[in-house]
Order: sequence, then structure tokens, then C-alpha cells
Amino acid sequence: RANEKLTDSFIYTPEVGANISKQLALMAEVSDAIENNQLLMYYQPKVDLKSQKVIGAEALIRWHHPERGWIRPDEFIPDAEHSTLILRISEFVLRAVIQQVQQWQQQGITIPISINVTGHDLLQPGFSQMMFGLLEEFQVDGSAIELEITEGTLIQDIDEVVSELLRLTRAKITVSIDDFGTGYSSLQYLYRLPISLLKIDQLFVKHLPEDQGASHICAAAVALAQKMGIKALAEGVETQQNLDYLVELGCDYGQGYFFSKPLSADAFAAWYHHRETQ
Ligand code: C2E
Ligand code: CA
Ligand code: CA
Ligand code: CA
Repeated sequence: RANEKLTDSFIYTPEVGANISKQLALMAEVSDAIENNQLLMYYQPKVDLKSQKVIGAEALIRWHHPERGWIRPDEFIPDAEHSTLILRISEFVLRAVIQQVQQWQQQGITIPISINVTGHDLLQPGFSQMMFGLLEEFQVDGSAIELEITEGTLIQDIDEVVSELLRLTRAKITVSIDDFGTGYSSLQYLYRLPISLLKIDQLFVKHLPEDQGASHICAAAVALAQKMGIKALAEGVETQQNLDYLVELGCDYGQGYFFSKPLSADAFAAWYHHRETQ
């Protein structure tokens, strides 16, 4: 009775049906959003905690819906990740970011920009080809691009992910592990993938230094990065207290509202120039 197993984990109720059709409607809207230029990228700086220099920025997607206003990525990315729609979103993101990097380089902003991708993106045949095509089209060097990999869903074929990443790192693209400490297979990823930066999830960072458990986890993550010869970045740095503790731990980089919220491309360029001329 194969059905029995199915009903254990998936019980169809009118509520489930309503959710599924809501999801489908949302995904159709995302598809339209790509075609109608409702998606755009915001940028959040990454800062060296010792020198206070800006060492990069993360590209974060924003959806400006004509009726509903701004829609957060958390409201549509997780669903999109379960369908091929995520590939169209990633294609949009890659093109938008690489074009932006080209523009900024002409204005003297030469920091690397990171892009969020999932293991699923990397398993798509032709992902690295698409990347190389865009780098070529906009005359941007691979070293200007970083990939942040999250594991929201368990990836079976890690060997494939590894070989795709090696193709990309040979072109000087670097790889970070995102949301460290919360994913399905963070440690396996760290062990297997060619990672050069470990991003400690904000879940732990925001409770520093009062919460002992969070403090231990951050200290261990920083020590692990050091042992592996890679850098550590704390996400979600919001307060001076968070910052002071991270410096004490020897964490290399930080990102969060304490430095800046994600900004539109123009606002980011203005923020960057202002800060660099201080
Ligand atoms: P993430 O990659 O972990 O990105 C960090 C999130 O934390 C961002 O939310 C950012 O705005 C937020 N954040 C930054 N500093 C602080 C802080 O100090 N305090 C707090 N409370 N939050 C902070 P955002 O932009 O809403 O993105 C949410 C998630 O959506 C991202 O998490 C990422 O997983 C996904 N996402 C965003 N853009 C893209 C994209 O272009 N492609 C893909 N595949 N996923 C994306
Ligand atoms: Ca990220
Ligand atoms: Ca993250
Ligand atoms: Ca996240």
C-alpha cells in the first residue's frame, strides 16, 4: 500500500489545496515580474572589522509589485527554489549584478559582489556557461564575483556541485557558505566544497554577547574558519556590543544594519564614496 506512506506525510485538506493554488498563483506572478522588470537588486556592504574598510557587498533581490508594493524575497524565493523558476530568477540576478559590477568599476568601485545561489542552480546544466557568457559580455573578471551557497534543501549529488564549483573557481570566482550553522549539511559543504568564506548566520550573531550558547557557536565557527585557512563573516551585526565581541573573537568581516541596510545601486554608490572619502 504505497498510498499509506504518502498520506502519512501529505494529508490533503481543502486548506492544503488553497495553499497550493496560492503558491501557483504567486509563481505565475514572479514569472510576470521577471518579464515586466519588477525585480531589482539591492546591495549590502561587507566590512573588515579591524580596518573598517568595505571589502565587498551582497546583492539581494527586491520585488516591486505594482499593486502590493515591496515583496520580501523570503515570500517568494523559498517557493521558487522548489521549481525551475529559481533558474530564471538566478539568470536575472546574474545579468543584473554583472552589468552593475561593470558600471561600478568604471566609477572606481572595485569590490567583489556576491550573489545568492542554491545547490539546485549549480546542478543545472549550463550554469557555469551562463556565468562565463555574462562575464565575457560585460568584460568583467571572475574575481569580481562571489557565490553564496545556502542549503535550504538537501542536495543528493554533491559530486556534481563540487565539479561545477571547481569550473567556477578556476575562473577566480570565489565561494562562500551562507547561513552557517542552520543548513542541512553545513559541515559536509564546508568539508567538500571549495569555500573561501564562512558566513555565520545572524541567528547566532544577534544574541552576542549575552547568550552563552550563541557566543560559543560563534567562537567555534571563527576558530573553525581559522583552522581551515578561510575567512569568517558575521551576518546581522546590529549593535556596537555585537561588533565588540566579534572583534574580540577575531572574526574577520561583518555585515548588518550596524554598518548599513541593503541599499539601491545608486544609494550604495553614494554611501561607498562618502565612506571612502571620510
Ligand atoms: P540571506 O542570504 O541570509 O541574506 C541576509 C538577509 O538578512 C537579507 O534579507 C538582509 O536584508 C537581512 N539583513 C541584513 N543585515 C541585517 C541585520 O542587521 N539584521 C536583520 N534582522 N536582518 C539583516 P533579505 O534581503 O530579505 O533576503 C532574505 C533571503 O532571501 C536571503 O537571506 C537569501 O536567502 C534570499 N535571497 C535574497 N536575494 C536573493 C537572490 O538574489 N537569489 C536567491 N536565490 N536568494 C535570495
Ligand atoms: Ca546570502
Ligand atoms: Ca545569510
Ligand atoms: Ca538566510
